[in-house]
This record gives sequence, structure tokens and C-alpha cells, in this order.
Amino acid sequence: MPLVLAGVVGAVGCTAVPAPEAPAPGPRAEVTVPTNAAPRALPPGSFTTAGEPTQGGWLRGTAPVGTVQLALDGKPVPLGANGSFLIAFDRDAGPVATLVATRNDGSRVTQPLQVSKRAWRIEHINAPRRPGGATEDFMAIRQPELDAIAAARAEDTGAQGWRQKFVWPVKARISGLFGSQRIYRGEPGAYHSGIDLAPGAGATYVSPADGVVVLAVQGYSLEGNLLIIDHGMGLNSAFLHSQTLLVKKGDRVTQGQPIGLVGMSGRATGPHLHWSLKWQDARLDPLLFTGPQD
Ligand SMILES: [Zn+2]
Repeated sequence: MPLVLAGVVGAVGCTAVPAPEAPAPGPRAEVTVPTNAAPRALPPGSFTTAGEPTQGGWLRGTAPVGTVQLALDGKPVPLGANGSFLIAFDRDAGPVATLVATRNDGSRVTQPLQVSKRAWRIEHINAPRRPGGATEDFMAIRQPELDAIAAARAEDTGAQGWRQKFVWPVKARISGLFGSQRIYRGEPGAYHSGIDLAPGAGATYVSPADGVVVLAVQGYSLEGNLLIIDHGMGLNSAFLHSQTLLVKKGDRVTQGQPIGLVGMSGRATGPHLHWSLKWQDARLDPLLFTGPQD
């Protein structure tokens, strides 16, 4: 089967070099080609992928040869050089996701993905959920913060960190898992959107992958001193509650570079680093990007 070859050989990327399989000009050329011929049909193609489709997890891959558009469940997925791509799955995604490549001859290649279910840590609390509902005064401060966060996360910097295996920002006791949730007398509270690391106040943390700083702000009402780093292709990291930020908006950072000091600014009961990862609208589990601490 030419499955793997189809993903690797012919894809786009390098415009100057003719595709190796392009037919040499030969004697058969002039006879059969109609003037307004449809594009020549592409050979059958398939996706190559690495990673595991699971809730909070990711897949990297290469689209079939000739892919000009890629979509996951109908939403566009950015395409990198040579048809490379990243997709990821929200904490509550599944059980099936569908990847569709549209190729330059109009043909489509569809790849259904089984998204495996995770067992999140659920805690049942025998108490009513605290009434939510923000006051008007709070929202007057909060809305501009939310707008700035959304704008930062929408920035496309061309960063390439999405290709890397992520490292831990800081190796420390995990004081809160991604996806964990409290249920108050049957009423679910919001789940934990990141992972909490507790190395102690003032500990240095580093960038888990290459990227560009798209937000570096002080004193946000919940996040405190907040850093957001774009890793490219719609993938970004947020770091909350810092004591000090060591980088500023627009800085390019490399994997392992110190970017902040752990603190308890904003709404935090003790010093810790809350690290959250998002791909487009999907909230992801940082543990699945780093692997366990050794
Ligand atoms: Zn947290």
C-alpha cells in the first residue's frame, strides 16, 4: 500500500523543486489532452499521524498529498509546510472526531478518529454550589481582561514550538490536575483548566516549547501576573499567578528559557504555577504534552 509514501513524498512546501514523480516530457503528450481538462486525479492518499486521539490530547500528522484544505469536525485546521498539521481534543471531546482533507483535484480524504475517554478526578461535595454571577462592578474590570486574553490567543505568530516534545516549565509537586472537577449536590462546578505546580514562591519556570509572548500583563483580577505564549498552529500556553514575569510581549522564547517566577498573584490560595494549554477552543492536558516528570 502506498499509504505512507502518499503522505510524505508529493506534498507541497518546496515550490522550486519539481516533484520527483512528475512525468518526463514524452511523445504521448499532445494527443489526448482536451483543452479544458479537469485537473488530473491524484493517486489515493492517506494521513500519517503520531500521537493518541484522547480527551485533552493531541495528534501531529501529515495530510494526504495535494491537500489544500483541512478540517476537523467542520472547523478549519492550519496547514504547515509539506502538509504538516496539529490537531487536539478538548477535555470533553468525542467519542468520534472526523478529519477531512480536500485536495487540489477536488477529491476528499476522510479520516474518522476514535477519541478515547479519560477518567477525570471527580469530587462530590455535600454542599450547595456557591452562587456565581459576577457583579456589574467586577465585569467592568473583567471584560477588558477577557477581551485582551481572547485577542492574544487569536494571534498567529508563526511560532514552531508546536512541533516539539514539551518540557516541564518546572518540575515540582502537582497540586492540581487538569480536568478535575467538583460536583456540589449533583451540580457540576467548572473543571480545572490547567495543571498546578507547587515548587514554592520565587521558583523560576521555563518555556515548555519555543514560542512568542502574546500577552505579559500585571494584576489581572483572577490570573494575577499573566503570561501567554503562542506555540504556533493555534496552540498556546498560559501561565498564571506569577510573582515576576521575565519576558515581555513580542519576545521570542526558546524551549527551556526562564520566563517567570512562581507566585500567588491574582486569585490563588498559595504560591503555585497554573499552566494551561489550548488549541483553538479546545482545553488540553499539559501532562499529555510533557509525559510524566522523571
Ligand atoms: Zn490551577
